[in-house]
Amino acid sequence: MSAIDTLPPLREVIANHGLSARKSLGQNFLLDLNLTAKIARKAGDLTGCDVLEIGPGPGGLTRGLLAEGARKVVAVEKDRRCLLALQEIADAYPGRLEIIEGDALEVDLSGHLTGPVRVAANLPYNVGTELLVRWLTPDSWPPFWESLTLMFQREVAQRIVAKPGSKTYGRLALLAQWRCDAKIVLDLPPQAFTPPPKVSSAVVHLTRLDAPRFEANPKTLSHVVATAFNQRRKMLRAALKGMAPDIEDQLRAAGLDPTARAEEISLEGFCALARQLDGS
Ligand code: SAM
Repeated sequence: MSAIDTLPPLREVIANHGLSARKSLGQNFLLDLNLTAKIARKAGDLTGCDVLEIGPGPGGLTRGLLAEGARKVVAVEKDRRCLLALQEIADAYPGRLEIIEGDALEVDLSGHLTGPVRVAANLPYNVGTELLVRWLTPDSWPPFWESLTLMFQREVAQRIVAKPGSKTYGRLALLAQWRCDAKIVLDLPPQAFTPPPKVSSAVVHLTRLDAPRFEANPKTLSHVVATAFNQRRKMLRAALKGMAPDIEDQLRAAGLDPTARAEEISLEGFCALARQLDGS
């Protein structure tokens, strides 16, 4: 029996099901259930919420989310070897864990989740950023989720919460902070995982805003930001020259210095430029 439920400790689960970690699937497991319950608490009040978890693996975080009161957890796992271990958790929490076998980049989750929805995951490193960008750039806002509580390599977490002028400021910070509050809520050393990864990790909590912080067309903003940071060391007038023949005038009209570099421009500045380019 473990500290948070009546299921066996995770080391036993892993041994029973032969779940040796596979690097190709980004498998670094959390085995301390007190720690996974702590991460689950960082996701906010789970009572009355469905939680989407990507990559449950042997189920450490899944158990934390259920013990912390999630109404239902929908867990998407690509590694078939984990399914029996996850089924044992589903049996211990009748009707509260739905296991979906598949690739999180491909599965269709429509019909599986009922709002309010929170997303919580110790993400596989190889797909983490791609999933985050998808969750941040849906066709319409607000998105299907209220909050995202996600484990990343610390360097990626810093890119999400970065402010202008910092080395890590770029597209990820702007996409995240345009329509969310984003903060790092927990730092974890490599030794928290089995096997330990080479780098430190951090949990980022993003809470969606009802409306964007500044008005802008999402596609234009995304395009401007991606183009500007593609050549981050160039002056804006050079980095963005392909976007409009009179880009220097457009930058000035948006209140920006054409000789500034992308990393010096605030979110408000990029939104003003996106509006200017759209002629609004
Ligand atoms: N949540 C577990 C924990 O905290 O111990 C496991 C985390 S491990 C870092 C990442 C998990 O994501 C692994 O179980 C792996 O099999 C799974 N995974 C990898 N790629 C995936 C994908 N494309 N779709 C769904 N799951 C994936």
